[in-house]
Amino acid sequence: MQTLSDSAVLDLWERGTRLHSLDRGLMVLTAAFPENSGNAPADWSLGRRNSALAEWHSAMFGPTLEAWIACPQCGERLEFQMDVQSLIAREERSADERVEVRGRLFRLPTSRDLACVAAESDSAVAPLRLLESCCLDADGTEHWSEQDLEEVGDRLAGADPLAETRLEFRCPACAAKWNEPLDLVDFLWAEMDAQAKRLLREVHTLASAYGWTEPEILRLSGARRSYYLRMVLE
Ligand SMILES: [Zn+2]
Repeated sequence: MQTLSDSAVLDLWERGTRLHSLDRGLMVLTAAFPENSGNAPADWSLGRRNSALAEWHSAMFGPTLEAWIACPQCGERLEFQMDVQSLIAREERSADERVEVRGRLFRLPTSRDLACVAAESDSAVAPLRLLESCCLDADGTEHWSEQDLEEVGDRLAGADPLAETRLEFRCPACAAKWNEPLDLVDFLWAEMDAQAKRLLREVHTLASAYGWTEPEILRLSGARRSYYLRMVLE
């Protein structure tokens, strides 16, 4: 894994603003884990993807994820914190892990599978499409019942526990309780967005004061840059 320079963060942010959240996650992983180029992040299990995103978040922005969420009932803004270290896998899971359910073999879902399902407009059909795309020996004659879907879903979740982390919330204003899946890419992207905009503001301030170019300003160490900024803003 590698951390990125300020100028690489700006490049990535610029490319990512136009992308779907799934593609943003893959773009970040491709930049952060270049040694894995033989095995594209799109084909990693979702647990491996999330663990890698958490590891990179920790290296780039620190181990604490600070975020907020709006109460679905009254709109109250709930701030919360979590330690992303708890989302980093203790043991490497093999990408070709298989789960057998009712005589059929399934592989773990990947970002590529999610991307195929994301285009499915019927939310009731999406889980079925996901199951079909992960079934290794389907012959097109299967009829999957609700119960089959649930069983396959439970077994795949058990085989790849970091694929989905659900967060529990309780609103202090209206006492509503709910849970929802943690979307690490969204939180990571919020950090990237804040950092990119801070960098652009710094470049603007220093370029206006000294006439330096963007690459010259981004090449300064953080300590020097903040020292110059303080002198300009004093
Ligand atoms: Zn509420």
